[in-house]
Amino acid sequence: MDEFDLIHRITPKKSHQNALVMGIGDDASVYQPHSQCEEVVCVDTMVERVHFRFDFSTPYEIGFKALAVNISDIAAMGATPKYYLVSIAIPPHGDEEIVTALYQGMKALADTYQMDLIGGDTVSTRSDFVITVTVIGEIPKGTACYRQSAQTGDIVFVTGELGSSAAGLSLLMNGVAPVKSVDTAFFLERHKMPQPHVVAGQICSSFPRVTLNDVSDGLASELNEIAEASDVTVEIEADKLPVHADLPLLNDKWLEWVLFGGEDFVLTGTIPEADWTSFEKQCKEKEVKVTQIGQVVHDQYAGVNLKENDQQTKLMKRGYNHFKK
Ligand code: ADP
Ligand code: MG
Repeated sequence: MDEFDLIHRITPKKSHQNALVMGIGDDASVYQPHSQCEEVVCVDTMVERVHFRFDFSTPYEIGFKALAVNISDIAAMGATPKYYLVSIAIPPHGDEEIVTALYQGMKALADTYQMDLIGGDTVSTRSDFVITVTVIGEIPKGTACYRQSAQTGDIVFVTGELGSSAAGLSLLMNGVAPVKSVDTAFFLERHKMPQPHVVAGQICSSFPRVTLNDVSDGLASELNEIAEASDVTVEIEADKLPVHADLPLLNDKWLEWVLFGGEDFVLTGTIPEADWTSFEKQCKEKEVKVTQIGQVVHDQYAGVNLKENDQQTKLMKRGYNHFKK
């Protein structure tokens, strides 16, 4: 495999964004930011055998997810994704076919959002693939959704459904046996090719005081982050948590998936009670599923409480943590 051939092959033939002045092919890319907007930037790395496995996912699916998790962070600010850059470290077992498919997976998702690939880096590694994706987005000035503005009385919501990705992973790892009446392909796809909630995030940013986080590490962890940043206490109700109808059929422990599984890449956050009806209406118009799951109950951080059959339990920030054994 030749580095320059490879770069040539992945260079897009045309771009979506008119504001792009110079894309791939020079020392750096140049674009004209919109004067009424703020730039929103994030980066995430996926490492073979830590974040993905070639025996679980195709290279196309891995590429798709590497971009999806970054778009999800942009969505969690309420912003619109515009550009992406990809740094890839290729091991000896990585041939041209794999790398091409990784980029095709990214392109498929990028095209749905009119995003342009504007640069990256290509290196070799001795053992595992490493894919680092940077995404640049834009948002009208002053409208980004941060984590620290929740107040007592706000409604806690989640977009989409929870636990499907963890169910998919469990099916892949043979931790859970498939159930005859259940469409397991649905759960596998939710794990392998998650869809970021960009439209939902944009709706959130059109309201004055929404806190927002994407569910990457698990609902318990994300809500604790919001509660901590806002210095409030959050209470959610187990029987309000939105799940796919078949999820409980797969395993008795399905609530664990919902609370701690993560990687659903839906959005969770808070909104003032006065804005809720109008928020719900806008979500419905744009076909975004949104569910109230609880409320902000106290203006000091004392964690996240789960109400289940009149019992209260404190939800710890448990979820996947790379440095915890
Ligand atoms: P330089 O040596 O000036 O840093 P490179 O030879 O590394 O440039 O890259 C040439 C061009 O190709 C640059 O525009 C760079 O952003 C782009 N590029 C290199 N590797 C990748 C990659 N893996 N994915 C996307 N673009 C890449
Ligand atoms: Mg150079």
